[in-house]
Amino acid sequence: MQSRRHFLQNLSVTALGLPLLNSAGFPFEQNSFAPAADGAVLRVALMGLGSYANRVADAMRDCKRAKLVGVVSGTPSKITDWQRRFSIPEKNCYDYTSFDRIKDNPEIDAVYVTTPNGLHHDHVIRAARAGKQVICEKPMAINAREGREMVDACKKAGVQLLVGYRMHFEPKTVEVIRMRQNGEFGKILFFQGLSGFRIGDPSQWRLNKTLAGGGAMMDIGIYSINGARYMIGEEPVWVTAQETKTDPQKFKEGVDETIQFQLGFPGGAVASCLSTYSMNNLDKFFLNGDKGFAELQPATGYGPIEGRTHKGLLTQPHITHQTIQMDEMAAILLDGKKPLVPVDGEEAVKDLTIIDAIYQAVKTGQRVALKLH
Ligand code: NAD
Repeated sequence: MQSRRHFLQNLSVTALGLPLLNSAGFPFEQNSFAPAADGAVLRVALMGLGSYANRVADAMRDCKRAKLVGVVSGTPSKITDWQRRFSIPEKNCYDYTSFDRIKDNPEIDAVYVTTPNGLHHDHVIRAARAGKQVICEKPMAINAREGREMVDACKKAGVQLLVGYRMHFEPKTVEVIRMRQNGEFGKILFFQGLSGFRIGDPSQWRLNKTLAGGGAMMDIGIYSINGARYMIGEEPVWVTAQETKTDPQKFKEGVDETIQFQLGFPGGAVASCLSTYSMNNLDKFFLNGDKGFAELQPATGYGPIEGRTHKGLLTQPHITHQTIQMDEMAAILLDGKKPLVPVDGEEAVKDLTIIDAIYQAVKTGQRVALKLH
């Protein structure tokens, strides 16, 4: 395990040679969290012990800079199970009632919120008020207004807010972004994003408007939105969108099944995207410029990501996404490292603003203007 860790660490710094790993200025203005001494470890409590929390916790076993030290859960049996699996001391275990007392616990630096989307707003604000650094899963909130309130609450509390945009650290994705920044694709003219899967159990929270905030767009379509932005490297200025619903029983009012949407970018590029809960085998990004192209498929699954450009296959090695994400987030939070593509609350508010506009475009049938700067 130790040698694998060292391998990954060395890989991050040398073999990949990625700009993302170059340290830059401190990205957040209102942070009162003192940067830690070199090599310090971010001590994390996970809140909401569901399937994604399990994935993150397992991946963190291989982290060099981040360690799981606490949990927040409403289910006592899960707490005891996690204590056993991850050697978590009793004093670092909370339920949703006792959670605010985490502010008196100096052994926890950050809270990672992995509860259903509709609860992120409350959970992030409580973590910020407790003086903890916050990492929140995507979508950060269920609309841009809530997202801005979360950003403001974290600024007011003097803590940083990061969002689980794991693709921003994924080596093949990072290579495509680097190539685009170097002008290797020329003038970017087109992006295609296909994001979808066939959802099962109709009673799950992902199909409940209050807990999910919407449907496929909130959960999976957001990958094409965020991907269009980091692949093209600009902020969209307009959006159009069209919805289709084949099963109104399963996908109730406010829960979108399938939405096609288009984003217009200031440089002239257009993104054409599909978000759906009713088809499998949809996880593809295609970027086209006047000098070349990049194609990722799968583009956002847990990997390995596969891809090629006009220059050939992308051969960067697979690293468990959540492992590299948590090591990089520790460097952002503890050392002030600046990521290649932002992973902060403002970045998430941009995606939420686009989602709000997509829903508005579906409702009105009109093109909606966006001002994201
Ligand atoms: P999940 O249903 O497996 O887990 C959610 C957890 O929240 C459960 O342990 C549940 O008990 C708990 N919870 C607390 N209060 C709840 C309530 N009132 N109702 C329902 N559950 C409640 O879901 P998940 O797949 O782990 O998703 C959690 C979050 O992580 C979501 O925001 C999701 O979008 C995000 N996610 C991100 C990725 C990624 O790749 N970044 C992947 C999967 C999920």
